[in-house]
Amino acid sequence: MIQLENIEKVYRTDTLETVALSGINLSIRKGEFVSIMGPSGSGKSTLLNIIGLLDVATGGKVSLNEKVVSSHKDRDLANLRNRELGFIFQKFHLINDLRAIDNVEIPLLYRNMSYKERRKMAEEALEKVGLISRTSHFPSQLSGGQQQRVAIARAIVGKPKILLADEPTGNLDSQMSDEIMNILKELNQQEQTTVIMVTHDKRMADMTDRIIRIFDGRQVA
Ligand code: ADP
Ligand code: ADP
Repeated sequence: MIQLENIEKVYRTDTLETVALSGINLSIRKGEFVSIMGPSGSGKSTLLNIIGLLDVATGGKVSLNEKVVSSHKDRDLANLRNRELGFIFQKFHLINDLRAIDNVEIPLLYRNMSYKERRKMAEEALEKVGLISRTSHFPSQLSGGQQQRVAIARAIVGKPKILLADEPTGNLDSQMSDEIMNILKELNQQEQTTVIMVTHDKRMADMTDRIIRIFDGRQVA
């Protein structure tokens, strides 16, 4: 479903050149739950952002469903992201003056849908993460774990085939982390969503199908 061939990422400024990734070759199948592990600064976020079409590699090829997408224009990439991908981050990035349900609806605003349809899909997404009783709460009225569940509902509301999560449990205690992992596992198993998660928590990584280890911009295992 996702294929990376000889990916390289160099960050260049006038005075600095940082090789963040080099020689990355990777295939991820539909329905896999994969984690990316490695020390801080090893290139995990850069890799996830390239897979998620948020960032562009300086070398190599990215394919999605057997189509090379790395040469697409920004606008086409944005469309692909909106249709195929969902994102979850360590910081929840919710909009504080919107209620939970309004936060969840945001990705659907780019689609040609009626208010009623959007509401229905947002409610379904909140139901899936067990937060239907909190639809009208504002983020500040929710615990950290609940806020992350709203963020997951927002990521899945458009029914993406691939879910990308960058340290999704990084801000949560171990009990809340387990709740979040259970939700990700359920989405993976019941909806066949492909999940790719960056973590440096071994316990979280051990709950996934496969661990990709990155060290100093290179894939080491
Ligand atoms: P990780 O997620 O494993 O902590 P990152 O992917 O964030 O690592 O960073 C990999 C390397 O690329 C680091 O050495 C970092 O300093 C560098 N880097 C990341 N983003 C930028 C940027 N925007 N400009 C320059 N260097 C960057
Ligand atoms: P804990 O301290 O165990 O994390 P809280 O006492 O902060 O839990 O919250 C308990 C429940 O009350 C949460 O589910 C949250 O949604 C709800 N809640 C907390 N603060 C508010 C608030 N200001 N308004 C409405 N609901 C709230």
